Formats: sequence, structure tokens, C-alpha cells
Amino acid sequence: MDMSGKVALITGGGSGIGRATALVLAQAGADIIVNDISPEKAEGVAGEVADLGRQALPIAADVADHTSVNTMINQALSNLKKVDILVNNAGIGVEVPFHQMTKAEWDQMFAVHIGGTFNCTHGLVQQMIDRGWGRIISISSGAGLMGEAGLVHYSAAKAAILGFTKALARELASHGITVNAVAPGLIDTPLARSIQPETWEKFVKITPVGHEGRPEDIAHACAYLASEEASFVTGQTISPNGGIWM
Ligand code: NAP
Repeated sequence: MDMSGKVALITGGGSGIGRATALVLAQAGADIIVNDISPEKAEGVAGEVADLGRQALPIAADVADHTSVNTMINQALSNLKKVDILVNNAGIGVEVPFHQMTKAEWDQMFAVHIGGTFNCTHGLVQQMIDRGWGRIISISSGAGLMGEAGLVHYSAAKAAILGFTKALARELASHGITVNAVAPGLIDTPLARSIQPETWEKFVKITPVGHEGRPEDIAHACAYLASEEASFVTGQTISPNGGIWM
């Protein structure tokens, strides 16, 4: 897959799946805007992208904050002139039983996952329409497909991404823009490692391939959806999950 001449913006790109996706797209020839809430993490991954010989622009912003996202988009467009590929990846995950969940925890989960997906996509879609080409990829979760105990807020927000993806795919199909979701199973990242060790073991046990996935397993699915070769794929959810959900 050749992504020379393309520019990708990856939210939450400073760690885990976002970092791996930044590096895989850069290896394919894309220039990369690395967003993260942490400036140090964004700069670290931007340095790794630059080492691959691609242009790299780190931008720290909270995707849940509409004003910060608009500032980020202005900075991205004034530096790299366009964004062809958006990967809505930034995410958080805190296990809490539903009956103990606070309204603030519920709201925060939606603000980051579906609010962040709205903020970034809405801010970038017009310039994709203007050029008649775009790729919007949003990271959902196996939890959004199956539901997960202790993660009602997370599961609901990740399921919302699937509805967003399908509706927007229908709206944008005639503009040369595809809109897809990736719903990972258990992937070895700092976020997933924050769950209880017993929960981790439980997930590994019920994953038919018998082990967790690597961030690169998701990055390659994103790269396919971002490619020219995937121009007939829209409104879909790809779930690299080791067979945990079929
Ligand atoms: P990760 O290693 O923690 O990476 C996520 C990155 O996003 C972190 O650097 C995080 O910063 C950043 N971030 C958090 N909130 C943000 C915000 N409001 N604005 C900008 N950046 C923000 O986790 P990951 O596992 O790679 O997760 C990436 C995506 O995959 C998430 O959407 C997650 O829900 C999804 N996912 C992961 C798995 C899995 O098993 N790992 C499974 C299914 C879906 P902080 O560390 O400071 O929060």
C-alpha cells in the first residue's frame, strides 16, 4: 500500500494502538499529525515518525474539548495544508460497576469517545469533501459489539461510534470519502493493562487464538481501511479480535 502524498491525523497517537498506526502509515509513505492529550507522548511518537523520513507534526489537545480540537485542526491545516486520513483513536477506559458509576464518569466516557469522534470528524470533513477524497476510521471496541461488565459506559460509547460510522458512511459515500470502524479485541497496551489481572486472564482464556493482540494488529487494519485499495469498503466494522467475537 502506497500512501505517499497523504496526510493522516491520529488522535491519541502517543501510545499503544495510535502510536502503532502512526508508524505503520508513515512506513507506507504518509505524513503524520500525532495528537495526544500529553505533549511529551505526541512529541515522542512524532520523533519516531520523523526517523522514518516522513513529515511529523505533534499537537497536544484534548479531543473532548471542541475549542482545543478546532485550534489543533487550524494548526494542522496551516502546517500540512490538508488531512486525508483521520483516525479517531483517543480513548480512556476505567472499570466501574454500573451501580457505583457517577454521572461525571458516564459523561467523560461519552465526551472522549463519541464527543472526540464528532469534534475531529466535523472539523475535518469539509476539506475532504472539497478534495473529493477522504478516509475516516474510528476505533470502537469488542466491548461495543458484545457489551462488557464493568464497562457499561465504555461499551455504550463504543457502540455509539458504530452508529455514527454507518450513518456518516451513507452521507459521504458520493464524495469519495469512506467511513469505517475498527473494533479491537484484547490488545496489549497501557490502557488495556490497567484492567484487573484476573480480568486480563479471563479475556485471554476466552480468546480462541489463545493470546492477546499487538497494537500492530490493529494498525494494519487501519492501514488497509486508509488505503486506495479499500475504496469500496465503507460503513463497515473490522474486528481484529483473535476470534473472541464472531
Ligand atoms: P493507550 O495506549 O492508553 O493510548 C491511548 C492514548 O490516547 C493515550 O496516550 C491517552 O493519553 C490518549 N488520550 C486519552 N484521552 C485523550 C483525549 N481526551 N484527547 C487526546 N488523547 C487522549 O490505549 P490503547 O489501548 O492504544 O487505546 C486506543 C484506542 O483503542 C482507544 O479508543 C481504546 O478504547 C481502543 N481499544 C483498545 C483496546 C485494547 O485492548 N487496548 C481494545 C478495544 C478498543 P493518557 O494515557 O494520558 O490517557
